[in-house]
Amino acid sequence: MSRPSWREGRETDMNHEYDIIIVGGGMVGASLAHALATSDYRIALIEAHAVGRSGQPSYDERTVALSYGSVRTFKALGLWDELKAFATPIKHIHVSERGRFGATRISHTEQGVEALGYVVINRALGECLYAQVSKQKNVTIIMPARLRDFTVDSERVTVTVAPGPEAGEGKLLELHGRLLVAADGSASMVREQAGMQVRSFNYGHTAIVANVTPEQHHKYIAYERFTDTGPLALLPISQGRCSLVWSNREQDVDALLGLSDSEFLSRLQHRFGYRMGRLVKTGARSAYPLTLIEAFEMVGPRLALLGNAAHSIHPVAGQGFNLALRDVATLAQLLVDGDEQDAGSEIVLNEFARWRRDDLRKTIRLTDALARVFTNPLVGMTHAGGLGLVVMDLIAPLRWMFARRTMGMAGRLPRLAVGQALRRPSHQGTNAA
Ligand SMILES: Cc1cc2nc3c(=O)[nH]c(=O)nc-3n(C[C@H](O)[C@H](O)[C@H](O)COP(=O)(O)OP(=O)(O)OC[C@H]3O[C@@H](n4cnc5c(N)ncnc54)[C@H](O)[C@@H]3O)c2cc1C
Repeated sequence: MSRPSWREGRETDMNHEYDIIIVGGGMVGASLAHALATSDYRIALIEAHAVGRSGQPSYDERTVALSYGSVRTFKALGLWDELKAFATPIKHIHVSERGRFGATRISHTEQGVEALGYVVINRALGECLYAQVSKQKNVTIIMPARLRDFTVDSERVTVTVAPGPEAGEGKLLELHGRLLVAADGSASMVREQAGMQVRSFNYGHTAIVANVTPEQHHKYIAYERFTDTGPLALLPISQGRCSLVWSNREQDVDALLGLSDSEFLSRLQHRFGYRMGRLVKTGARSAYPLTLIEAFEMVGPRLALLGNAAHSIHPVAGQGFNLALRDVATLAQLLVDGDEQDAGSEIVLNEFARWRRDDLRKTIRLTDALARVFTNPLVGMTHAGGLGLVVMDLIAPLRWMFARRTMGMAGRLPRLAVGQALRRPSHQGTNAA
């Protein structure tokens, strides 16, 4: 795989005029660059950390549960054949609450699909994305390179880029574009510098992530278990192992990280139970503090926020990247449906913000409610959570609605999310599902 570096980019005859400048080549920024491969837009993708380096924050050893809709998107983008070698299907979802009566189950047969989603290692997703993006003639990857500054006027965006931490010394670069896309993560510098306000809420929780091996095979079941100290998920991955995302109170995290492997597994077993027999092995543990960040606006003059820069949500129910990929698919569609003259046109950006509003509101509300209701120390609240599960298991339409949203199949969807090509087939009507 070729990995264009800052130096390669600087030493070749890099064109400094672009239509779209994407800052942040993590899972979301690189997905947008890949989605626009067939467009006429000239794209610059600026990423601070080279893919494959240990400090790369987006493509680490975490896993991402791709919803059914995200898999359809990657199929439509021609990435799935390569990615599926690293993907494990989720055939069933089992949601339960520790110490309370109440569980709900969602099955792929009930939903009429081969799998409800797939679990992929982030690092593998990064390598597949970059293998494709680096072949694209219309994309210049500038990496490792960091956005230093930007200005916007009525005609264009001017961006100053410095070498990234691994690049050593180098001159500053000045690039011009018509649209600046901020995919630079939850602490987005672009968002900050543009003065775009956010709503934020610290859950007071940190997710501990590790790969664990149970005695029995997971049988492609994804477990989501709500406990009085926080929700935990065990997602199926290769060789019968599970990817653990265990949300814990901040004050308990250092102690959990400091335990020996066997003590850690026994603590986890106590929380999770014996549905897969004994938990026999754990890999390295890492920690991710959890805060909800939601930008009030996704767009500004010649500017769009995507992914964590726009909304960073609790990982319960695994929705963050799936939601962001629907942003990507929608923006890419509106950009190619336009005349490809001015990527930063107000019409395109306003339509993008309008289209995404409903899905964002509902998905963020769902994950936020799940994160809060099951972790609220008030007994009444946790009991309400348990009742919610019982009700959901009994009332099929409610479970169906929950499943459709978490599978990424609810509401008005862009063409890619329903498995169609990005470009409109000779201007045919609506693509809503
Ligand atoms: C524990 C955990 C589990 C999760 N599980 C799931 C799941 O199962 N399913 C799901 O859908 N989502 C999941 N998510 C959410 C998912 O990880 C995020 O939605 C996703 O990482 C967002 O990607 P991003 O590209 O927007 O941001 P990031 O991954 O933060 O990437 C931002 C990129 O921008 C680069 N960057 C930053 N600043 C600059 C700069 N100034 N110049 C140049 N580059 C810059 C960074 O180097 C980085 O590569 C999970 C999250 C957590 C914490």
